[in-house]
Amino acid sequence: MSITLNSKLDEIPGIGPAYIHKLQKLGIETVRDFLLYLPRRWDDYSHIVPIREIRPDEIVTIKGKIWEISNKRARSGINITEAIIADDTGTVKATWFNQPFLIKSLKTGDEICLAGKLEWNHNSVGMVSPAFEKISDEDESGLTHVGRIVPVYAETEGITSKWLRSKIKPLMKLIYSIRDYLPEEIKREQKLIDLPAAIRQMHFPENALQLKKARERLDFDEMFLLQLAVLNSRKKLNQERAIALPFNEDLIKGFVHDLPYQLTNAQRKAAWEILQDLARMQPMNRLLQGDVGSGKTVVAAIAMLNTAISNNQAVLLCPTEILVKQHFTLVSKLLKPFDIDCVMLVGSTPKAEKEEIYSKIREGEARVIIGTHALLEKGVEFWRLGLAIVDEQHRFGVDQRAALRKESLSTKTLPHFLTMTATPIPRTLSLTLFGDLDLSILDELPPGRKSIITRIVPSTKRQDGYHFIEEEIKKGRQAFVVCPLIGDVTGLESEKKSVMVEYQSLSKNIYPDLKIAYIHGKMKSEEKEKIMSDFAAGETNILVSTSVIEVGIDVPNSTIMIIEDADRFGLSQLHQFRGRVGRGEHQSYCFLFTKSNSEPVLKRLNALVQTNDGFKLSEVDLEIRGPGDFIGARQHGLPDIKMKNLMDLALIKKCRDAANNFLAKNNLEHQTLLYDKTKVFDAILYLE
Ligand code: ADP
Ligand code: MG
Repeated sequence: MSITLNSKLDEIPGIGPAYIHKLQKLGIETVRDFLLYLPRRWDDYSHIVPIREIRPDEIVTIKGKIWEISNKRARSGINITEAIIADDTGTVKATWFNQPFLIKSLKTGDEICLAGKLEWNHNSVGMVSPAFEKISDEDESGLTHVGRIVPVYAETEGITSKWLRSKIKPLMKLIYSIRDYLPEEIKREQKLIDLPAAIRQMHFPENALQLKKARERLDFDEMFLLQLAVLNSRKKLNQERAIALPFNEDLIKGFVHDLPYQLTNAQRKAAWEILQDLARMQPMNRLLQGDVGSGKTVVAAIAMLNTAISNNQAVLLCPTEILVKQHFTLVSKLLKPFDIDCVMLVGSTPKAEKEEIYSKIREGEARVIIGTHALLEKGVEFWRLGLAIVDEQHRFGVDQRAALRKESLSTKTLPHFLTMTATPIPRTLSLTLFGDLDLSILDELPPGRKSIITRIVPSTKRQDGYHFIEEEIKKGRQAFVVCPLIGDVTGLESEKKSVMVEYQSLSKNIYPDLKIAYIHGKMKSEEKEKIMSDFAAGETNILVSTSVIEVGIDVPNSTIMIIEDADRFGLSQLHQFRGRVGRGEHQSYCFLFTKSNSEPVLKRLNALVQTNDGFKLSEVDLEIRGPGDFIGARQHGLPDIKMKNLMDLALIKKCRDAANNFLAKNNLEHQTLLYDKTKVFDAILYLE
């Protein structure tokens, strides 16, 4: 039976079950997968040097004859294979350790190519553990492991590059059955080589130039497909209809005028951008990005007011009940003068009341609707949904956010869509993964905010930390203590426990005289509400909490944020916690408690000490975690995009222009092969 691209691994001669299993772990099931498993880097062993010219500590490739080869046993017991290799200019010694079987294949008189580093060893200079290959093993495309630019694969699961090379090389003859999905016209315009040639050159490059061309082709593909997916989704959204919501300028100006503070310029600009979008018939798709405390809520309130006043509905989706309550209180107060009916819907809303709210939403009586995931339940159908807003969007899954984008009962239109986040998106990502979004940025905080002092507190300094906190509390301030989620399945149990343990220890041993409360996601909502409102009213000194207070909570008198086991949280999340303080007139502090003294951990935590700028932190975070983790690629089933490409503005621009051009002339859905390739990115559309 002849092998094709679709052949399974067990049809390839010379690959046993153990290796098949290992390859499957790498996601390789078929010959096609195997061919598309590309090297991470290359070693250039192509330049053959006369033996006379080689120098110590250099990586070189030489070609010669084996003069003699033998095994000997060192005093330590290890086997040493020594060979003397000669060419026309001189001789050199090569040494390998614990590979006695080498002398079975390498014989005196064999012609051989060696690559490796020349090192001093026992007063003589020689090649230590060089890569090697016999010239007689050469095939029509030359040597495989030396004497050329050789591919180095990610060596995982106990598979060596040498093994991979020797198995992939014979499959190269099938490479030309791989179909190229890029249209000819694009390859011509961009001067790109064909896909099969590129893959071939990646594995076994003829020379550095061909390798460069191959990499150019594949880097282009990665970014181009991404841009196509993103821009095509935008094109499709533009063909949808939303309700045009006219900008009620006088009314909005009056509202802004009556606020207890002046809007920052950034807030004005963002609100303006949103109001402009709302007035259009194409659905808005906008991200409002602003660091914690930059005042996103009031911008959302302006957009909701402008929507509701024209007899349409606006919905605000929040990740926690606490936040819903807080927003509902604020927004109802702000909208009171306009006689707009606001409703609140959360998971714990009693059934009968829920039914009543459902019908208010369906009939259009409720015009501003604020809630948690409960808004995504079946019963919720909107009469005329003009605007949907998702606060703290990173707390929601793709499907959850998409669930709000549904047609309204009476108008069959989609809502304008606004998502809000405090986690800034690095600039290059905003052009790529988030390229289907318009962006409004609050890059300025309301005046008078003091920057938060952040300190890493090792176990030895814990008592000092407690003492300092006590002093602050005596001055009238309040503190949060955040404990991490531990484990996964049992997470909720252990989460409660660690909050409880901390609560016990603080209230019994450390601060017996202070008022301490605790809160976690598993508590009843009335209970949570009571605890939050007591804390907001200043009746509690310290609130011990899980990450439920991560987002949104606004209590200006709390000035101390203590994070236990800070190393367990991501940078963005830590920054969010820290954002719970520094909201009032007093100096605020953030203490990162950690038992870890590992360097990467301290480096990460130190980034927080160094800067309060969420934007800088997100770039550090992206760098540390890489784009895959940063955007949650694994969790969304996305291909991991190369960091190098995501940072390459020139490449991004080139691919974006090419994709725009292509979409202006073609319908992507009609180019089946290409369209299929872009589908892997579906999960990020609406990822925002
Ligand atoms: P976030 O962007 O983190 O959601 P919020 O909307 O919760 O921020 O606002 C943080 C705090 O700042 C709130 O107490 C809010 O009332 C206040 N605030 C918002 N805008 C301004 C402003 N322009 N001037 C002064 N305070 C403001
Ligand atoms: Mg907020």
